[in-house]
Amino acid sequence: MTFVPGKRKYLICGDPSGINLVQPIIQNIMEQHLSFEVMEIKDEEKVRNWLDHQKMGCYLYVSAAWPEIERLKNITEDIGFSEEEVQFLGRGEQMIKVFCCRCHGLTELARSDASEITCSQCGLLLSVSDHYSSLRKAYLGYVAKL
Ligand SMILES: [Zn+2]
Repeated sequence: MTFVPGKRKYLICGDPSGINLVQPIIQNIMEQHLSFEVMEIKDEEKVRNWLDHQKMGCYLYVSAAWPEIERLKNITEDIGFSEEEVQFLGRGEQMIKVFCCRCHGLTELARSDASEITCSQCGLLLSVSDHYSSLRKAYLGYVAKL
């Protein structure tokens, strides 16, 4: 994560170990006497409300385990934060979904394992592409060339 200067206000959101990892940035913000708020992710509705009531010009840092990052990404997108206004820091293994080109089934797997997989629905051997479909929230899997 990097400190992005010149924002009106900084928002830091995460689980306790995640917030710990953002400490160097919080330090930076405090040294420059900038305005900031820290919110621990306990209740997603509370986080949503908190983000929803922020004014324009805020910059958001989210640091948590991957499953929470995915949920928070959806929330920030809903509220209308753009990619330029948020930094995410995920911990642990990231799970991704792969969309089968044949049966349209989804197979979940750890990101680090993802090169070739067998579709969990139809058994087709798929090679996992870099193409992420935000519609399906999955990476597209194509027929693997043998
Ligand atoms: Zn399939």
